[in-house]
Amino acid sequence: MLYKSTRNSKKEVSAAKAIVKGISDDGGLFVPCSLPKISLDDLNMLKDKNYIERAVFILSKFLTDFTEQEIIDCVKGAYSNIKFSSKDIAKVLKLDEQIYMLELWHGPTCAFKDMALQLLPHLMKVSMKKQADGKQIAILVATSGDTGKAALEGFKNVEGTNIIVFYPQDGVSLMQKLQMVTQLGDNVDVCAIKGNFDDAQNGVKAIFTDSVIIDELFKNNVLFSSANSINWGRLVPQIVYYFSAYCDILKKFDITLGEEVNVVVPTGNFGNILSAYYGKKMGLPIKTFICASNKNNILTDFINTGIYDKNRSFYQTISPSMDILISSNLERLLYDIYDSDEAIKKLYSDLAKYGKFTIDDNVKFKIKSQFYGGFCDDGQTKKTICHIFKKYKYLCDTHTAVAVSVYNDYKKETGDETKTIIASTASPYKFTKDVLSSISGKTDCDDFAQLDELSKMTDTTAPKQLLNLKDAKIRFKNAIDKDDMKNYVLQKFTSK
Ligand SMILES: *Cc1c(COP(=O)(O)O)cnc(C)c1O
Repeated sequence: MLYKSTRNSKKEVSAAKAIVKGISDDGGLFVPCSLPKISLDDLNMLKDKNYIERAVFILSKFLTDFTEQEIIDCVKGAYSNIKFSSKDIAKVLKLDEQIYMLELWHGPTCAFKDMALQLLPHLMKVSMKKQADGKQIAILVATSGDTGKAALEGFKNVEGTNIIVFYPQDGVSLMQKLQMVTQLGDNVDVCAIKGNFDDAQNGVKAIFTDSVIIDELFKNNVLFSSANSINWGRLVPQIVYYFSAYCDILKKFDITLGEEVNVVVPTGNFGNILSAYYGKKMGLPIKTFICASNKNNILTDFINTGIYDKNRSFYQTISPSMDILISSNLERLLYDIYDSDEAIKKLYSDLAKYGKFTIDDNVKFKIKSQFYGGFCDDGQTKKTICHIFKKYKYLCDTHTAVAVSVYNDYKKETGDETKTIIASTASPYKFTKDVLSSISGKTDCDDFAQLDELSKMTDTTAPKQLLNLKDAKIRFKNAIDKDDMKNYVLQKFTSK
């Protein structure tokens, strides 16, 4: 299995190379040259396996330059029961005759990013041995809140790596911020940016393709890589849990082999929903992808009109991990449908020049026939948290609530009764303040008192990792202008 860049189809690299590099030098993203097929017989076989066995089976199809033993070691290192609080790893819960919640937040940082970022450092270590032996890797991360912590936790004290996380100073929840600035480990750094997530992401992308910095670091024996979902190593672990969820429903609940399901994903950078799309292309029976956005509804507009236009206001919402205007992984979907690097180069040069692009009608039609796009604002998000809690005694976080709300709209609009998997992407306790006020109207106590209050009110337990933040020492206080990111990185890696 080889990988090519969305902006240069002629360039083919191994999985290890794609993972070490993170992004292609031409600015494109690495995608598999073809997608492996998983048959219904395979699914039937996988239904009796555990998460680790399912992951090894799927990953072996993609990481053909890894040995079987390397893959087993990586997967076992990532998904042990010491790190995940549910033995299912990705846990499926049935809410009613149609809705299954796929809980992806039982990892160490309480958000779905752990599903990929517990595995990526293991994949990176093996890939480095194959592709960059003796080099140091500098991981740069732009985060809207959850990726940063998950990447820090995954890469802390991983030999041969250094990680810097940039987060928007006023754009993350208190719990998210505390999780990051108290991070332990000798190879980690966290820095606030005076700007929003897109500023942080653009800054990081610019550094990755800046030949002056790349050369300077190279002289110091350092290579850049990415832990954002532009890295193929972030996406491939996410394909696994859609297969796993289908197998669990097949085994424990009530679908028949081959029966189609819908998938609903609260979407930001488009990585999670794209993984489900790849799953479908590999053979997973999925009918419709429901792409749920918050008030930053650029994807809703795109799916409905075929025009991607970032010339619009950026809103800070109570689902901050989806506060994004440039959804990087959309490029991979467009490449898959256009099957032309020239077309992608044109679209993305339009985006750089005019802040927008328009896709061809036939591409628009293909997207519309598989994707439904919808959004909701903060008020509706809060109402949904309250409604779902009252109706099912199920507590969901602010991001997952956006997905539920958009799914309800979809059902009203289409009358579709197909069984549906909703990706539940974070623990409600990561967003305690807004979750608590949604169900009780309360906002008067301090943040840690709110954890207790939410726990008592809903008869659920707060994750200890979050409770422990109360007494954790703050290690990182840097805050810089977005234009200073390059210097910050240069200084850090050339003064050593
Ligand atoms: C990152 C994140 C999302 C968005 O996922 P993408 O793969 O970026 O689309 C949604 N919810 C939560 C809680 C997240 O952390």
